[in-house]
Amino acid sequence: MTAVAVAPEPVYCEFTGHPLAENVPIPETARLGLEPPRYCRFCGRRMIVQVAPHGWHARCSRHGDLESTPAGELGRLSRGTD
Ligand SMILES: [Zn+2]
Repeated sequence: MTAVAVAPEPVYCEFTGHPLAENVPIPETARLGLEPPRYCRFCGRRMIVQVAPHGWHARCSRHGDLESTPAGELGRLSRGTD
């Protein structure tokens, strides 16, 4: 079972681990959805990430499992305030 709906708003960039407020650039590969997230978007902890041929699976020790999502959600997160 996946349970991610603990915190409503992402606070950290899941690719760089920096707070979203800092607007740290996301690597191009991550932007294109080619890389799995490495940090929890809610607490900034490093996650345990497993990459599989069809996607990826990441787990935060506090917030549980994340799985690869449709492009919509990642796109929304990475676009920020363009
Ligand atoms: Zn977390």
